[in-house]
Amino acid sequence: MSNTPPRDRSRFQADTRLVHAGRDPSAQHGFVNTPIYRGSTVLFPDYDAIKNRRGRYQYGTSGTPTMDALSDAWSEISGAAGTVLTPSGLSALTIALMAAVSAGDHLLVTDSAYRPTRIFCDGVLKRYGVEVEYYDPLVGASIAALIRDNTKAVLVEAPGSQTFEMQDVPAIAEAVHACGGAVIMDNTWATPLLFPPHERGVDIAVEAGTKYLSGGSDLLIGLVSATERWYPAVKRTFEHFAPCAGPEDIFLGLRGLRTMGLRLREHGERGIAMAEWLQARPEVARVLHPALPSDPGHAIWRRDFKGASGLFGVILNPVSETALAAMLDGLELFGMGFSWGGFESLVIPFDPTIYRTATRWRAEGPALRFHIGLEDLDDLKADLEAGFARMAATG
Ligand SMILES: *Cc1c(COP(=O)(O)O)cnc(C)c1O
Repeated sequence: MSNTPPRDRSRFQADTRLVHAGRDPSAQHGFVNTPIYRGSTVLFPDYDAIKNRRGRYQYGTSGTPTMDALSDAWSEISGAAGTVLTPSGLSALTIALMAAVSAGDHLLVTDSAYRPTRIFCDGVLKRYGVEVEYYDPLVGASIAALIRDNTKAVLVEAPGSQTFEMQDVPAIAEAVHACGGAVIMDNTWATPLLFPPHERGVDIAVEAGTKYLSGGSDLLIGLVSATERWYPAVKRTFEHFAPCAGPEDIFLGLRGLRTMGLRLREHGERGIAMAEWLQARPEVARVLHPALPSDPGHAIWRRDFKGASGLFGVILNPVSETALAAMLDGLELFGMGFSWGGFESLVIPFDPTIYRTATRWRAEGPALRFHIGLEDLDDLKADLEAGFARMAATG
């Protein structure tokens, strides 16, 4: 292999593209990786160039080779016309939403959306005159009945945050496109590797790179990819706010990208193994994981997804809060904390009844969300087994 990248990568599989996309060693003196370009000012070569704004790089907010390396790679992997990078997953969602709706527009948001997305819609978009309406995530093609003359966008998320309902994204997209609206998807759970958003009808896809792109719980970054039709609006909105991700963080994102396929397969397999093990436990009423055949969203998952990531939910049989606390407080391997996608296993309690408005969340007992990391599975099971024993002893 020479130091120039394979020119046409369209014939390569995803794993090969992850290694080569957004990288040109011949442009970096042969070094394998694009370095961290830091900078605000970019010097123009002469009067004509600065007067007529000639040249790819003109100012730090409008692009650097480091930014291009990750956004080009992400566009290639997502099948998008373009991608912008932002300093967090939540800021990426705000850019996607602001690109699609204006004052007087109607926006449909799944009731299973990531909670800070709701808080942004209710706190900012409503204040700027957008009508925000929440809908049942299981709506499918019947979304057509909710579409009004001024509906401009529908936000989907599959599986849903915390509750893991699957959404029929292609059916929703068909109905929304028939009325000229945009489908915005929070695709953080699957990443474009497991759910190719733009092939399935999504116009603007958002990824919290904080999760699997990073893989290390050491990074906050967001990515917004869009189709030919919607990328100009996304790019313009990005330029209006200029929420630029930091160069070191982009570099860490590029580093994570190279191993993301490998890590996702491990998280996915381990997640399914732990979900099956938990489903067989007497303390567990239900497991919320679309890859399990018993899950109500399994058929959609099989049709539209290429795999699972390592995040799922569990509903316990009724148990006292003290018993639940006894289980969680003594865990040695599972940490308790927000976010996920890193190498370590995590668990958090959750209660969607406190924020849902379009649907009622019914659960047999307390709910837990697990992220399965890269530890040994028997060690993880032993940690949870000891937790269940403490739970039983507390009563
Ligand atoms: C974590 C997360 C986000 C937000 O990402 P941050 O980088 O933490 O802002 C958005 N959507 C989903 C589904 C997430 O899990």
